[in-house]
Amino acid sequence: MTVSQEIRLASRPVGEPSAANFELVATEAPEPGEGQIVVRNTWMSVDPYMRGRMDDAPSYIPPFALGAALEGSAIGEVIASRSAAVPVGATVSHFLGWREYAVLDAAAATVVDVSAAAPEAYLGALGTTGLTAYAALTRTAPVHEGDVVLVSAAAGAVGSVAGQLARKLGASRVIGSAGGPDKTKKLLDVFGFDAAVDHRRGNLAEQLAEAAPEGIDVYLDAVGGDHLQAAVGAMRTGGRIALVGAISGYNATERAPGPDNLFQVAAREVTLRGMLVSSHFDLFPEWTGKAAGWLADGSLHTEQTVVEGIAQAPEALLGVLRGANTGKMLVRLGAQR
Ligand code: NAP
Repeated sequence: MTVSQEIRLASRPVGEPSAANFELVATEAPEPGEGQIVVRNTWMSVDPYMRGRMDDAPSYIPPFALGAALEGSAIGEVIASRSAAVPVGATVSHFLGWREYAVLDAAAATVVDVSAAAPEAYLGALGTTGLTAYAALTRTAPVHEGDVVLVSAAAGAVGSVAGQLARKLGASRVIGSAGGPDKTKKLLDVFGFDAAVDHRRGNLAEQLAEAAPEGIDVYLDAVGGDHLQAAVGAMRTGGRIALVGAISGYNATERAPGPDNLFQVAAREVTLRGMLVSSHFDLFPEWTGKAAGWLADGSLHTEQTVVEGIAQAPEALLGVLRGANTGKMLVRLGAQR
């Protein structure tokens, strides 16, 4: 028998989650039914939206079930197949992460091209975080030639791609916000931002006024709260804001008041628009075609923060919520026994 370890939701957190909310359980690796495959997961993604799924609250995606394995994006190798469409040996992406081996319908897996990029890239720049940046800056809050663009959580998975993409789309100045001096230095030195704001230093409005004295045309908001308020205050007439996430509130136990300066949205005719990446999957071929080329020619720089082993996956999720990552937070699974 092959043992497959998985992480289950042991309890729902109040406020910031802890390791006690998760349970590591050893199960028997599954056998495939007709039309199914068994995947040995090699990489899994932890993402901020998973925090919301730990709550029993209505959202755009159902909550994780208590006592059951969590779910999320993963990459792995097909080790058994009862489907002609997906052969043994293929590398696939699918949605049954948080476990070492997964059994699923072949139709629920996507074979990825490992000659175009490393398998784990399909959980980052070539996956939904890269696509989020692309859809936000081309559809939700399109960047026009000469725009000044602000990106929050700019050293993270979505943000680090978004900053570089904004430049490729014609931005004249790209500003990023991140937490702490190491990350803001990296924004300038490695990810190609023109200016960086350190949200841990406080006074975002003042820092923004210095970084973008003539204001902002496009803001990709991953943070909400104080970041959104400061950005609204800095928007130029006709500006566009993509509401992509609001991570500053994900662990909140009480609702935070919204920005108190929304009249400026009206006065400057700013567009504020939310987006969910799942509504933009039609852009995947267009985006991965471009991004794979940019990764190969070195004009798109990506980073990963890698945590080792299924047992550490909860810590990786807690880390992404605290800002422990630069670039995409990933868990490498060592199921090869
Ligand atoms: P990420 O940026 O790689 O990681 C999250 C980052 O958020 C942390 O590294 C941390 O960076 C920052 N952060 C945490 N608490 C913060 C706070 N109170 N104030 C400011 N920054 C804080 O994660 P990601 O996967 O790329 O996701 C980024 C955002 O996009 C999240 O809000 C996520 O929910 C959203 N998202 C939305 C969609 C969609 O379909 N709408 C899809 C993907 C992602 P610092 O150390 O710099 O603070």
